Amino acid sequence: MTAGLAGRPESGGLPVPFACEDDDGALDHAAVVKRRAIRCALSRICGICGETLTRPIAFIGSSEEAEAGSFDFPPTHLECAREALDLFAPIGGRHLGHSEPPLTWALVTTGGFDLVRPTRRGDKVTFHPNSILDTELTD
Ligand SMILES: [Zn+2]
Repeated sequence: MTAGLAGRPESGGLPVPFACEDDDGALDHAAVVKRRAIRCALSRICGICGETLTRPIAFIGSSEEAEAGSFDFPPTHLECAREALDLFAPIGGRHLGHSEPPLTWALVTTGGFDLVRPTRRGDKVTFHPNSILDTELTD
């Protein structure tokens, strides 16, 4: 069992993932905090609960992100990904680091990933799953 979203601080009555909380405590469902994304990658911790990742590693994002193999939201536990999609996908809105709600959410499981640093200073980092096991779509 992973902690999932239990115990996460709330904004707008909904728990905020680890990756959407700034180190000063600022909370924003619609944005991934860059330094947290980098910490998730380098320390191999989950972007939802903030605990150590286990395999398979999961990525959540839009179906377009899944097709491109490039995700904004950091890696998560599979259980945490499912919990987050169960909560956020049905209600729509700007969640899980997305400023626009995806029409179709994707959950990709993978054996590993690369952190892709921006070519331009100040741009966001992205994540590239490098050995995809499965892709699930949720409308
Ligand atoms: Zn987790």
